[in-house]
Amino acid sequence: MRTLLADHPLVTHKLTMLRDSRTDTATFRTLADELVTLLAYEATREIRVAAVSVRTPVAVATGARLTAPKPLIVPVLRAGIGMLDGMTRLLPMASVGFVGMVRDEESLVASTYANRLPNRLDGREVFVLDPMLATGGTLVTVISMLRDRGAQAVTAICLLAAPEGLARLEEAFPADDVRVVTGAVDDRLNDKGYIVPGLGDAGDRLFGEI
Ligand code: URA
Repeated sequence: MRTLLADHPLVTHKLTMLRDSRTDTATFRTLADELVTLLAYEATREIRVAAVSVRTPVAVATGARLTAPKPLIVPVLRAGIGMLDGMTRLLPMASVGFVGMVRDEESLVASTYANRLPNRLDGREVFVLDPMLATGGTLVTVISMLRDRGAQAVTAICLLAAPEGLARLEEAFPADDVRVVTGAVDDRLNDKGYIVPGLGDAGDRLFGEI
């Protein structure tokens, strides 16, 4: 697994505003959306393209165009939905699948409650959206589902990551076809599995407490 820390000053600025407990839900959503687009720029650096020529008003120019098969974007419900618009803005041609995961607050073990993924993903590049890489349990499950279906490469985009979660992913996926792109690697997890200092519960902050 490869980890890319996208610590651009704009990313850090927006992340700092997200972390601030005074940031309201509406502002949080806007910031998360903007951040994803910045992280997506890094996450798509290796996306598959083919050389093409186009005629400009002046001459022929050689460039690049995204090639088939289409990339797949997979937001992890619930909080990953808050990252979807920011990602599809950059990759409007991508298709979107969904996985719903819920974490047991006692055991911190994540289980799957929804799955809308294609049966086969042979040769496809997949971008998983999950704002908080905490224990890594959710992403190990989701990335395994994608690789079992034949995905060629999987990139997880996370606003924040904990060292514990990165280590767990590294152990599960030692090969470099799995990547994590994150805006920051925080200090640790607390005994409730929250990232410290983190930003609290990403789902609650995006959508309000339910
Ligand atoms: N999920 C969250 O929303 N926040 C954390 O800090 C950890 C997991």
